[in-house]
Amino acid sequence: MEIVVQKFGGTSVRDKNVRNLAIQHVKRAVEDEKKVVVVVSAMGRYPDPYATDSLLHLIGEQSTSLSPKEKDMLLSCGETISAVVFSNELLQQDIHSMAITGAQAGIVTTSEFTNAQIKEVNTKNLQSLLYQHQVVVVAGFQGRTDQFETTTIGRGGSDTSATALAAALKAEYVDIFSDVNGIMTADPRMVTTARKLEKVSYTEVCNLAYQGAKVIHPRAVEIAMQANIPIRVRSTLTTEEGTLITTTEMGNEHNEVRDQFVTGIAYVDHLTQIKVEAPNEPEQLHVKVFKAMADAGISVDFINISPSGVTYTILDQYEKKAMQVLEELGLDPVLNKNCAKISLVGAGMSGLPGVTSKIVQTLTKHHIPIFQSADSHRTIWVLVKSEQLETAINALHVAFQLDATKK
Ligand code: ADP
Ligand code: ASP
Ligand code: MG
Repeated sequence: MEIVVQKFGGTSVRDKNVRNLAIQHVKRAVEDEKKVVVVVSAMGRYPDPYATDSLLHLIGEQSTSLSPKEKDMLLSCGETISAVVFSNELLQQDIHSMAITGAQAGIVTTSEFTNAQIKEVNTKNLQSLLYQHQVVVVAGFQGRTDQFETTTIGRGGSDTSATALAAALKAEYVDIFSDVNGIMTADPRMVTTARKLEKVSYTEVCNLAYQGAKVIHPRAVEIAMQANIPIRVRSTLTTEEGTLITTTEMGNEHNEVRDQFVTGIAYVDHLTQIKVEAPNEPEQLHVKVFKAMADAGISVDFINISPSGVTYTILDQYEKKAMQVLEELGLDPVLNKNCAKISLVGAGMSGLPGVTSKIVQTLTKHHIPIFQSADSHRTIWVLVKSEQLETAINALHVAFQLDATKK
């Protein structure tokens, strides 16, 4: 049995017309004599009735006192509905198909409801269903605990369902179908000249995804990388090949010469930068601050620790809670709200001098102040004001020659 996995995101299963285009991709794989595992997301986006955010809206996401376990009972319904509807339409086109839940597909998770981790995938049931059917449609985003309670695996998790199933089934490849032509040099909603990358390494995509490029979930990429299964990110609306994600980094293969050291730009918006100064007892300070944040369930990022204090970022939505926690500790934090973190990612930039200088020059030319920066082997980060995010990304995109007019 040659198995392939095809994952269709929310916009690819939104209505009958687009689902019909999705079905044509499934049909082509069936005609190619593959057994197809289709993984679907919930249908559409808010306010479409069965989209994940619409289900959350039903219970007033922020104000609900439902337990995460009960929330997962609701959230998992979006994908379950989607799988059954998709399978029904496959049957209507004479494709022998069956819909199953994540649990029936053998996805076993930890019990961190709403954000569970996949622990194992028992493919026995799925394998036998694949012998009996051309296509098995699996509800993405969901699994079950050892106690058979329904879980979901975190927002954007259907990508991870797809690669986890592919790894367990030793599939030939995974196709991630979405509303874009592939992985682009930047979010095409933000940068209209963003260019599609033909081929990119797991590591680079993983970095881009961790830094906010929501085209694919980073965990999904890690799982495929470990199992060495190629991923193609492609559009449901066309037959184009999209972007191939494999182990090879551009420039490492034969005669390919990498003419660009930055592969892509990602961002995370809606951040608050917090500075806490305590010149008298610096060691105590960062221990106290980060413990307090962890105890309050606030995740911190972009951390700088210096002898005089600490600087870090949190999501804007936790700003009030963080302020309260820090004031209770007798501290006097300074907040810089409405910030965005821009990340430049590229395997080719490691060890290259001048990248940071180019970023600084570009942003200065556009009168964009940088509030914080950091760099690692393959990523450089800068923090700017949200209102300047679009200008900053576009300027950097041009400065690093990522725009469509260049190769
Ligand atoms: P799906 O519902 O199919 O999973 P998502 O909305 O999760 O789709 O991901 C697709 C979106 O990712 C695109 O519409 C695009 O705006 C966004 N995106 C962000 N960064 C990138 C990038 N570098 N390349 C392509 N798309 C990106
Ligand atoms: N429907 C879920 C979400 O919107 C999972 C997914 O689409 O990947 O986050
Ligand atoms: Mg997605």
